[in-house]
Amino acid sequence: MRKGRAMTARELINKGAQELAERGVADAETDSRLLFCHLTGVSRSRLFMEYPRKMTDTEIAAYKALIRRRGTGEPLQYIVGETEFMGLRFRVDSRVLIPRPETELLVEKALELLKGFSTKSEQGSPSASGEPAAAGEPVTATRQNPLGSRQPVRILDCCCGSGAIGLSVAALAEMPVHVICTDISSDALDVARENARNLLGTSMSRTEGFVESDEPESDGSSGASRRRGWGDKNRGKVEFLWGSFLEPVAGKRFDMILCNPPYIQDGVIPGLQREVREHEPLLALAGGADGMDPYREMIPRLTEHLTDGGVAMFEIGHDQGEAVANMFAETGEFESAQVMRDLAGRNRIVWTRRRYP
Ligand code: GLN
Repeated sequence: MRKGRAMTARELINKGAQELAERGVADAETDSRLLFCHLTGVSRSRLFMEYPRKMTDTEIAAYKALIRRRGTGEPLQYIVGETEFMGLRFRVDSRVLIPRPETELLVEKALELLKGFSTKSEQGSPSASGEPAAAGEPVTATRQNPLGSRQPVRILDCCCGSGAIGLSVAALAEMPVHVICTDISSDALDVARENARNLLGTSMSRTEGFVESDEPESDGSSGASRRRGWGDKNRGKVEFLWGSFLEPVAGKRFDMILCNPPYIQDGVIPGLQREVREHEPLLALAGGADGMDPYREMIPRLTEHLTDGGVAMFEIGHDQGEAVANMFAETGEFESAQVMRDLAGRNRIVWTRRRYP
């Protein structure tokens, strides 16, 4: 792009697309438009209606800088500072892995199982028979405290990154939930906290190394209060704890443990797309020699952290389903694990539940 010559938005965007294509960016045209929209704050659909005029030199220079960043392989989501996941907007930058669309499968399955938590409460606990519930059957009764009042379902998002999993569940669950998000990266936890504020509208306060949400705004103006499952009547709570895998939740039990750990094999890392390899946090990707280190670390310890009938659900690499299911089987504490495929037909999640004694 030459600087200085007044161009229309369309010309500028075409130039941008051309430059991105030359640099090997796959979705050059889309990205050049989205970067323009990001810069000008104009929506995609109104772009050419609102921008018939020539661009100023300042606008051209700013746009050129964005195109240059994208041209060097920086992911679009980091440049625009956000991505969509489960229909929600998550802030992202190089401190966190960009939530992948495949991971929505995990959240959808978790939400489906959560529905079972509440419907079963009317019928008494399925644990009475001691029999493993059939695949797809609701999991367990809503937890009752000794006084019989309803308790929020306790959910752990282990290795939370941006908070995509735990916060989507908090925002979309149709019942009170208490979500704890943990990560070994305090930078990632900062991003997750910011996402919690944006998505759940909670006012957060810092207390001794973790941040706990207060109740939603009482004026009902926050996004959270408007969202089902997080209003005044149906309130929940989100906490953030720093540390490695399950360490931060020592002594705590959950009804559901959700986890998208780093699972890429060391040997595969150098062959990852450049955008991923050079820009996303390796800590969120590298799972050791065979990519299985996190599962090896966590699965044998899960029963310490799960209630009877509690659900464990992991995202996995497409070739790890069987091995992870076997790890669950080896503990002797879980029902036989289900491996589920994503929309591309590849194995993507493994889930099971702790057996009733
Ligand atoms: N699915 C991610 C990728 O392909 C990996 C995420 C992970 O390791 N948890 O880049």
